[in-house]
Amino acid sequence: LERQLRQAERLEAVGQLAGGVAHDFNNLLGVIMASADVAAYDLPEDHPIQAELASIERAAERGAALTRQLLVFSRSEPPQLETLDLNAVVGDTEQLLRRTIGEDLDFVTRLTDDRPLVCMDRTRLEQILVNLVVNARGAMPDGGQLTITTAIVVDETQCPVRLSVADTGCGMTPEVIQRAFEPFFTTKGPGKGTGLGLSTVYGAVTEAGGEITIDSTPGVGTTVRVLLPRAEPSRDEQETPPHRPPDRGR
Ligand code: ADP
Repeated sequence: LERQLRQAERLEAVGQLAGGVAHDFNNLLGVIMASADVAAYDLPEDHPIQAELASIERAAERGAALTRQLLVFSRSEPPQLETLDLNAVVGDTEQLLRRTIGEDLDFVTRLTDDRPLVCMDRTRLEQILVNLVVNARGAMPDGGQLTITTAIVVDETQCPVRLSVADTGCGMTPEVIQRAFEPFFTTKGPGKGTGLGLSTVYGAVTEAGGEITIDSTPGVGTTVRVLLPRAEPSRDEQETPPHRPPDRGR
């Protein structure tokens, strides 16, 4: 418990720091991108400097993506709580997730017939999904199977709504599992991982009053389980039939 508390405090501190820096940093990156763009436009297309300008733009864009993640991570915006059907959110993000995963992976979703309703911020829930899927994808460079499962766990009173993301990838050692939620902890090497994926997920899950566990075996695969409190159907939610097909693609 003490370890969790320390972890939470560190997340909080890093979050505040990151939020402040990320705002300013994003503006600076905007200037860099715009200047590189103007310079590229002013020079002839076959000028040798064009390649350099393009890599400046790419690097700045990557930096901007990183600071966006930092901003979200630092929770600079208050969560907008709404009653969400976890199945529907999985369905809504499915296209995006398929694109993230690519063609060479087997992608399976197993959705519960009970309505897995949760009360949380939609963006946060999407973040949880996307980050877990990105990690699972990254763990399977040579292909494999990615399974998203939703369930209502009967004997779980506090947090019965379960979202699992399982992969048949490289797996994690106990040492990596222990540090996985630490902000900036990554095994992916400079320029590849930010080390913010799982800490973002951790932040979003605890904010929603949930829990998260990692089950992993090196060489076999990883299952990340997110447990969330179940929400009561809101009045207009009750009107909707339980098996509404996802009608919104992205
Ligand atoms: P990043 O993915 O940018 O490295 P994360 O916080 O998302 O940062 O993950 C931290 C580390 O946890 C990763 O570098 C990786 O070693 C490990 N990890 C996370 N998810 C998985 C997974 N599905 N399979 C194997 N290792 C994982």
